[in-house]
Amino acid sequence: MKLTFLGTGTSTGVPSIGCDCETCVSTDPRDKRLRQSALIDHEGKKVLIDTSIDFRQQALRAGIDRLDAILITHCHVDHVFGLDDIRPLNFRHGAMGVYANEPAWTDLRRIFEYIFNPTHVGGGLPQLVPHLVTHNSPFSIGNDLTVTPLEVTHGKLPVIAYRFNDFGYVTDLKVMPTDTKDHLRDLDVLALDCVRIKPHSTHLCLEESLALIEELKPKRAFLIHLNHDILHERESRNLPDNVDLAYDGLTIEA
Ligand SMILES: [Zn+2]
Ligand SMILES: [Zn+2]
Ligand SMILES: [Zn+2]
Repeated sequence: MKLTFLGTGTSTGVPSIGCDCETCVSTDPRDKRLRQSALIDHEGKKVLIDTSIDFRQQALRAGIDRLDAILITHCHVDHVFGLDDIRPLNFRHGAMGVYANEPAWTDLRRIFEYIFNPTHVGGGLPQLVPHLVTHNSPFSIGNDLTVTPLEVTHGKLPVIAYRFNDFGYVTDLKVMPTDTKDHLRDLDVLALDCVRIKPHSTHLCLEESLALIEELKPKRAFLIHLNHDILHERESRNLPDNVDLAYDGLTIEA
């Protein structure tokens, strides 16, 4: 299995518009972060996690020519506003399955009403097959990829973390319930939310992310959804041996 980070930035992206801080003016390519998203590639199946607001740019950059499924973590702008850009893939390969939890579907159907309730006849709409996911009800994509949706909490919003075999992908959370923790212990690879250094009301900050990694004990962990407090080179030096900052374009194999 291969996981590619298509974007590793928080909702504003890095650089942040109008900011001249050290990270935003950094020339290190690892400090340029599109919005959070990843691609799983396993036994010929390609699965996208979130159609980020930067999806078009990410798909072109990663050479995505087909997707077998899209998994949505939650319906916040940074994670879903690229949904309309799946159309070129639909034109070539037809409709694709989109997986999301109930609150995300409620919001997606309202925000993207033109997809579900078109007001004019004509082509050019995204084609998707909606699937509802619920906590700890695993499903398969193709023959070899088992996906387990697991609930975490992002402020008051239930967000879906996904486990793929021994990979865990957990973005946008403040609280991880014990039952979800029990499904994410001793993984090969854990990608985990770490929005900034200082505490945040709806995301894990650096200290909280590191404490959770210590508790879950993955072999390797990658911090994601990073804001401009985090200068790659400087912050990387202070991390435990099994923890790294993710960056756009980084590919992990396991
Ligand atoms: Zn987010
Ligand atoms: Zn900045
Ligand atoms: Zn969010």
